[in-house]
Amino acid sequence: MDQEKIGKFIASLRKEKGFTQAVLAEKLGITDRAVSKWENGRSLPDASIMLELCGLLDINVNELLSGERIAMENYEQIAEQTIVEMKKQEEHKNKKLLTAESVIVAISAVSSFVIILAGLLLAPYRPTVGVILCYAGTALALCGTIYATTLEHDAGYYECPNCGNRYVPAMSEVIFAVHYGSTRKLRCPCCGKKGYNKKVLTK
Ligand SMILES: [Zn+2]
Repeated sequence: MDQEKIGKFIASLRKEKGFTQAVLAEKLGITDRAVSKWENGRSLPDASIMLELCGLLDINVNELLSGERIAMENYEQIAEQTIVEMKKQEEHKNKKLLTAESVIVAISAVSSFVIILAGLLLAPYRPTVGVILCYAGTALALCGTIYATTLEHDAGYYECPNCGNRYVPAMSEVIFAVHYGSTRKLRCPCCGKKGYNKKVLTK
């Protein structure tokens, strides 16, 4: 698949429809950064939103994946197989991101604990070093948390417990949301209700 060609095709259809990148992103419940990545040929739309995207752009999946309008119909089956394959890839990629998140949380928690502990133990003898270590440990814990949250935000979607809508919320909402594990209290953009949104890997 020619990502660059597909990207240019998406961009031209989007403009034909009079959508900005932000409008298209909003309709699909994804970030406009994702749309910009497709259009620059740096990534392909996730299989899980491909059909919705095709619907919005008035093309079929064959056309999307070949980056041009085509009249043939016997490729439909091939495209469907491609989608199944890509959905698997998406799930795999998101699983890896979430695993990375857990590893980062564990490593930064343990190392910041050790650094802060060392700071506290040293403080009576070397106050300056002790304070620096305490600050460094805290900063490390904070950076680890933010980075891990970014990974969680980018992996898959959050599912509204009320209406079942799956979406990607803004990063700021995710960071400040009450959570346990990767289940976060968020407001659903579809039904507007607040609830504990579970992390799901595909749309
Ligand atoms: Zn909802």
